Amino acid sequence: MASVETVKGQIDAGELGTTLIHEHLINADEAVHAQWHQVPTLGTLDEELVEAGGELDAAVEAANAAVGLGVKTIADPTAMFLGRDVAFMREVSDRSGLQVVPCTGIYTYDYLPQFFVLRDADAMADLFVADIEEGIQGTEIKAAFIKCAADEPGVTENVEKVHRAAARASVRTGAPIMAHSRPASETAPRQIEIFEEEGADLSRVQIAHTGDTDDLDYIERLLDKGVWIGMDRFGLPIFLPDEQRVPTVLTLLERGYANRMFLSADSCATIDWYPFEVAEQLIEAGMVKDWNIKKVPEQVIPELREKGMTEEQLETMMVSNAQSWLGR
Ligand SMILES: [Zn+2]
Repeated sequence: MASVETVKGQIDAGELGTTLIHEHLINADEAVHAQWHQVPTLGTLDEELVEAGGELDAAVEAANAAVGLGVKTIADPTAMFLGRDVAFMREVSDRSGLQVVPCTGIYTYDYLPQFFVLRDADAMADLFVADIEEGIQGTEIKAAFIKCAADEPGVTENVEKVHRAAARASVRTGAPIMAHSRPASETAPRQIEIFEEEGADLSRVQIAHTGDTDDLDYIERLLDKGVWIGMDRFGLPIFLPDEQRVPTVLTLLERGYANRMFLSADSCATIDWYPFEVAEQLIEAGMVKDWNIKKVPEQVIPELREKGMTEEQLETMMVSNAQSWLGR
């Protein structure tokens, strides 16, 4: 039986159950918050959460809400620069009962600290492998997957280095990769090409945010490579309205891709990116709509069901796919 690392230790892949493959318990830049303690991470989109208390309360509340909707596990791709904190994640898991699958990796669209500029991809891969094999941040909590990202600037030199490091760590350990992508810039073909050049197993690679486009030709070009795709930003019309995301998923189901797709929301229990007034504007403008951990179980799944998704397809996307992608 394949196994998966969680913040509470290793489990059988069969114990994952219903899994949201891309949800964040926190999103807060670690350098900003280490340097300026007075800065709240609670630039959350939900003012009620701020009144409820700190980041931990907000994360526990989100985790409880997920558990209440039958979610057993989340994969949390909070890597370096997003405020990864495995002690925090374990606390949330302890308090809520939600299984949380942590990652290693670096989330950057280009910038890398000077530390990494004069070190090569192998040195970076060594750190990812240590997280996978020994433990994260001095704990025995091990990373289950590797995160990297490419966005509007494209696959820059630094981004390429992170991708090569992710691929090498995957080759050395068998750990799967989740690659944040930007369909509007068509980043994924180059990201996949780098993984291929490094000899990574593409059946271990998930291209996150593929659901930000409804261009089926583009999506099928990726699927032809044998990767997984994340239809993982429901509730974010700022990238693509749900009215276009849902029919795209339905068409891909008709074409037989249930066993290649993940549904998730990329929600953040708290996020420090937006000052309140900006968050308010985004919500008022309809750019962000019910964007939270409940989005998929509460809204998206019922809608897909109503429009013809079978229970078997649902089970494949929400349970079996996570076992196959994460289990090793
Ligand atoms: Zn994310």
